[in-house]
Amino acid sequence: MNSFALLEKLCNAHGMSGYEDEVRELISSEIEEFADSIKTDRMGNLIAVKKGDEKKVMLASHMDEIGFMVKHVEEKGFLRVTPIGGWFSQTILNQRVFVHTKDGKVTGVFGCKPPHIMKDEERKKVVKVEDMFVDVGAESKDEVEEMGIEIGSPVTMDRELSRLGKNRITGKAIDDRAGVAAVIEVFRESECDATLYAVFTVQEEVGLKGARTSAFSINPDIAIAVDVCVATDFPGVSVNQEINLGKGPAITVADASGRGIIAHRNVLNLLRDTAEKNKIPYQLEVGEGGTTDATAIHLTREGIPSGVVSIPARYIHTPVEVIDLKDYSNTVKLLIKSLERCEKYMKF
Ligand SMILES: [Zn+2]
Repeated sequence: MNSFALLEKLCNAHGMSGYEDEVRELISSEIEEFADSIKTDRMGNLIAVKKGDEKKVMLASHMDEIGFMVKHVEEKGFLRVTPIGGWFSQTILNQRVFVHTKDGKVTGVFGCKPPHIMKDEERKKVVKVEDMFVDVGAESKDEVEEMGIEIGSPVTMDRELSRLGKNRITGKAIDDRAGVAAVIEVFRESECDATLYAVFTVQEEVGLKGARTSAFSINPDIAIAVDVCVATDFPGVSVNQEINLGKGPAITVADASGRGIIAHRNVLNLLRDTAEKNKIPYQLEVGEGGTTDATAIHLTREGIPSGVVSIPARYIHTPVEVIDLKDYSNTVKLLIKSLERCEKYMKF
């Protein structure tokens, strides 16, 4: 199976938080024939089930990507937007975007002053998102309306996935379409005794929302979130922990300094033991910022033992995220092998 082709389709699809429809349809078409049942719940999560025994294991990866929402259209036709999800404002300047309307995608650009007319102090200043605007080429507010753009229209980055060097890829929304692609591949190939629930969640980037409701309805015995994590192996990063590209999936011990999740010991052991047994390279992660769907899942009902497997990624939450395909395939392998032996770790 060609992983790059799958990643390319998923990363190039557009699905801002709350507007994951295109991504959901794509996943559904990729996974349907391997599932005993598949459904979209009321929140919009896509849940595919592969029937096994009475034990339940849940894999979660989020479909949504960060973006913007149109909040105001100016008389001259410029759009003002609000960020949806965690952007660093300087990433946004001069990017090409798509504004999504009921009639399709409209191209736009985040404009900004050229250096020629900037004052010295302006050049040193960080530009705030509220001072930015999207230019869709319209001459007036009326023309914007004719294009089908309205208050609430979602905006996403226009950037296609590309290969980078021998083993790496770069693009937008690798967070978390790489996780989505991995879960699709795992679901297709897995031979797990327990009943497997592959959940493609909505609105992770704005508060882990889909994970919360789907975990409640499924009530799994254990859960694993599959996401990307912050790699720290590039210039200018000074932290005491190293997460490197190419050194294997990251298994989370704790994230957000323990305020996110402290991985359940059984799930942590399942992942580590499986990696050791199968000689799959891995890195242990203790994160201080950022969290995943597992944070919401593990606090559902009376508590659901949960853990996280992540693909290390550089420049997360930019249109030029980078991962290593070796880490991606080792993530798939680690999950497939872990599912085969997960019931041993369900004694609590
Ligand atoms: Zn993510």
